[in-house]
Amino acid sequence: MEESNLSISIAHLYPKLLNLYGDMGNVITLIKRCEWRGINVDFEQINVGDAIKDHDLYFIGGGQDKQQEEVAQELFSHKSELIAQRDSGAVFLGICGGYQLFGHYYQPHDKEKLTGISLMDAYTVAGKNRFIGNVTVKTNLLEPKTLVGFENHSGLTYLQGETKPLGLVSVGHGNNGTDGFEGARFKNVFGTYLHGSLLPKNPHFADMLIELALEKRYGYKITLQPLEDKLEWDAHNSVVNKSY
Ligand code: GLN
Repeated sequence: MEESNLSISIAHLYPKLLNLYGDMGNVITLIKRCEWRGINVDFEQINVGDAIKDHDLYFIGGGQDKQQEEVAQELFSHKSELIAQRDSGAVFLGICGGYQLFGHYYQPHDKEKLTGISLMDAYTVAGKNRFIGNVTVKTNLLEPKTLVGFENHSGLTYLQGETKPLGLVSVGHGNNGTDGFEGARFKNVFGTYLHGSLLPKNPHFADMLIELALEKRYGYKITLQPLEDKLEWDAHNSVVNKSY
């Protein structure tokens, strides 16, 4: 089908609370990479108190523990709907604090445990140190096999069962600074600690997420036409080739 006859619906979950380091740049990237191809985008921001409608792709950003607390309660009230969306093949991308809430729980320092929505089999506990800095990940999910970004978290995330990492950290700390893993995937649910924002510098990941969301909507694999991404790859490679 001609890309200009395609549509996709994208929801940004709780942008007023979880949007650390301009994580909404990921949503802007997804929308622009669709619009540049003539794909029609239905977009909505979902805030506290709003209903959660069916979408092809859901995005949630990162934030401080306080904002995470408010979002955790709201997200949990929609847990069954969001699990149903996951099981229907909807794509999710969660960054840092949002990623942590995709798991079973986030246990901050000396505070109540935040219950997650268990979209993936993972859990997070607050660590003693804060991991801050550039990250390069080696991944078999994408070509080229690198993902780049910036991390700033104290949470340590551990994956279990069928939830697998996005890749292995070659620079930075990743999920917990010990198992070498960064990020996570279960079905079409993706989580990562990579701020930046992530997708402008990782166009291959952005396009993979769009293709998965289109496949969920239309029921068959759709391969997107490549875009002229010189700027995006220059930014990506400037991080990959950085000497530390
Ligand atoms: N508050 C969480 C942590 O520090 C998430 C922070 C973030 O979203 N950058 O681990």
